[in-house]
Amino acid sequence: MATITMKFGGTSVGSPEAIQNVVTIVSESAQRGDKVVVVVSAMSGATDALITSVNEAAAGNKWAYLSTAQKLRDRHEEIVNLFTPPGKDRERTVQDVHAILAQHTELCQAVNILGEATSRISDAVVSFGERMSARVIAAALRANGVNAQAFDATNLIVTDDRFGGASVLWAETEQRIRERLLPVLEEGVVPVVTGFIGGTRQGHVTTLGRGGSDYSGAIFAAYTGSDELIIWTDVDGVMTTDPRVDKRAQVLPYISYQEVGELAFYGAKVLHPKTVQPILNLGTPLRVRNTFNPRHPGTLIGRDPEPSATVIKAVTAIRKVSLLTVSGKGMMGVPGIAGRTFLSTAQAGANILMISQASSEQNFCFVVLDDKANEAKHAIETELAAEIARGDVDGVDVLGDVAVVTVVGAGMRGTPGVSGRVFTAMGDNLVNVIAIAQGASECSISFVVSEDNLKSAVVTLHDLALEAVSA
Ligand code: ASP
Ligand code: MG
Repeated sequence: MATITMKFGGTSVGSPEAIQNVVTIVSESAQRGDKVVVVVSAMSGATDALITSVNEAAAGNKWAYLSTAQKLRDRHEEIVNLFTPPGKDRERTVQDVHAILAQHTELCQAVNILGEATSRISDAVVSFGERMSARVIAAALRANGVNAQAFDATNLIVTDDRFGGASVLWAETEQRIRERLLPVLEEGVVPVVTGFIGGTRQGHVTTLGRGGSDYSGAIFAAYTGSDELIIWTDVDGVMTTDPRVDKRAQVLPYISYQEVGELAFYGAKVLHPKTVQPILNLGTPLRVRNTFNPRHPGTLIGRDPEPSATVIKAVTAIRKVSLLTVSGKGMMGVPGIAGRTFLSTAQAGANILMISQASSEQNFCFVVLDDKANEAKHAIETELAAEIARGDVDGVDVLGDVAVVTVVGAGMRGTPGVSGRVFTAMGDNLVNVIAIAQGASECSISFVVSEDNLKSAVVTLHDLALEAVSA
C-alpha cells in the first residue's frame, strides 16, 4: 500500500470540469488502497482577486472587496451545489465558505478604515482562497464516497514571521505533520490540506510566496513519508521549452531534481523553485501530470541525473529584467564592493537572478527584475556614495529591455564544448550576448540578450535540445 501526496493547482480546482477530474483521480487512487494526501491551491484567479481586494481596500475602495467576496461566493457555491447533494454536508460546507468570506469582508473593512494593509493582514486575507477550496474539494470527494476531511496548514506548517514569503521551521513542521496528519491517514481518512499557507508559532497565518502550494505539496510528501508526490497541473509535464515561444516544445519523460530546480529558477512556470528542497534527501519521486489529460504519464523528476547523457535538456527565459553594471577604475583589488552592492540590492528587495564579473575587476554586472531595478540602483549608489565621490566607482548603469536565457542539462558537466556550441549558435544567428554566467554546478548556462533577440535565441538553442531528444 503506497502513500501518495497529490497537489492540485489553481486551474485543476478552478472549474466544474476540472474538479470532476480531481474527484475521479483521487477516488481511483483511494480505491486502489493508496493512502492519499491531497494538497490544494485556491481556485484559479482567487489569490489574485484577494490580493487586489486588500490593496483596493487600503486605497479606499470598498466596492472592490465586496464584489470580490460576492464573486468568490458564487464560484464556490456553484461547486458545492454541483458536487454535493442537498443535505447536512452541503449546508455545512456552504456555511464554512460564508464564514470565511465574512472574515474576508471584516478584515478588508479594517484595512479600509486604517487606509493601509500590513503584510500580516494581507497574508490572512490571501489564505482564504486555499481555505475555501480545501473545504469545497473535501465535500466533493465525500459526496463521491471518499472519506475526505479538510485541514488548514496554518497549524501544520510552522514558519517564521516573514509574512508574504515565510520560511519553514523544519523540525516543528515535521513534528506537527507526524502528530496531526499521520494518525488521520492511518484511520483511512483522505486529508485535503490547504497549499501555500502556514502559520507562526503564535498562530498567525503566513504564506510561502506566490505559487507556493507546490512547495507545500513537497513538505507534506516528505513528512508523511509518501512514496510519490504528484503535482497535478494543466500541462502534460515539464517541457523542453515554453510552447508559446516554440511550438515544437516536447514533454520531457525524465528530468533530475537539480535540472528542474534550475529551470524553475530561470523562468519555467511549471514548478515553484523550492519544490524539490523538502524531498531532496529522501529522493521521493516527483511527477508532474495533467489533470485535464490524466492518461498522459507526465514527467518523472528524480534524484539521479539521467544515465543517457543528453547534453542540453531544456531552454528557458526570463523577460522583464534589467542588467545593472557597477564599474570604476578604482575598484580593482578593493574587497567588499561586490558584497556591499549585493547586500544593498537585497535590502532594496531585489532578488539577484544572475551575476557576472570579468577578471579585469573594473566592473561586474547582475540581473534583477525590471520593477526593482531603479530601487536597487539607488540603494547601491547610496551605499557606495563615498567611493563614488572619490571617483573609485563610476556608479550603477541600468540596461533595460533585456532577458536572461538559460540552457539546462546535467550532461553538460564534464562534456567539453557545450558552451562553445551554445555561443557559436548565437553568433550564427546574429544574437548579441551581453553577459554570461555558468553555475558551478555546471548544470546550466545563463546569458543576457536584448528582448529583441530573445525568441531567436530560444528557438536556436531549442534546436540543440531537440537534437538531444531525438538522438
Ligand atoms: N494560490 C497561490 C497562488 O496563486 C498558491 C499556488 O497556487 O501555488 O500563488
Ligand atoms: Mg503553480
